[in-house]
Amino acid sequence: MVHDILRLIFPDLCCHCGEPLVGDERNICTLCLSKITWTHNAAHSENDTEIRLTGRIPVVAAASLLEFHKGNVAQSIIHQIKYHGNTQLAHQFGTILGEELKASRRFDDIDIVAPVPLFWWRHLRRGYNQSQLLAAEVAKTLQCQLSTNNLYRRRHTPSQTHRNRQQRIDNMVSAFSVRSPKQLEGKHLLLIDDVLTTGATTESCYHALQSIPDLRISVATLAITVS
Ligand SMILES: [Zn+2]
Repeated sequence: MVHDILRLIFPDLCCHCGEPLVGDERNICTLCLSKITWTHNAAHSENDTEIRLTGRIPVVAAASLLEFHKGNVAQSIIHQIKYHGNTQLAHQFGTILGEELKASRRFDDIDIVAPVPLFWWRHLRRGYNQSQLLAAEVAKTLQCQLSTNNLYRRRHTPSQTHRNRQQRIDNMVSAFSVRSPKQLEGKHLLLIDDVLTTGATTESCYHALQSIPDLRISVATLAITVS
């Protein structure tokens, strides 16, 4: 009741168009939801996500939920999650990502889900890691372990935005490390990130993981950039 009255005075707004939400709408309005471009690529091998990682990371499987380009709904969703602390939106879309991966049956034998980590002070300053929020929902849906401390970012890396492909790779060299490689031996790890752009961040995570015996790696991101 109180919530309903408050909602009349201070309506929740759609994360993309800014219009007041009505009825059962949460975070995003029905119209904007209908405009989302879903990749539906989780069920298919050699999909766009896997092709982007080809020759760089030997993944078991990879998938992305949304197509991301400048000005589209996915960009607003990522922006809200990353910079405006919209954790509800992260939970909402992390759950959809998890369900999509589960339905594909290609991620059935995942043992551990791990987010791409932030450097500790950035995590502290932001108060959360957006990829961790997504990873938590995916782990819940796939019913496997969530690991948030083993893979870690060793140093601060300046934002990848406005960097070209080679600059992104150089920026990410030796950015990550693993505290306890033993815990990952023989496991199938699912690495979660918010957006796959050039794949430089994911590749840098792989470099920190590649010497671990019998570790298999899969990758899932909320969105993948399209031109
Ligand atoms: Zn809207």
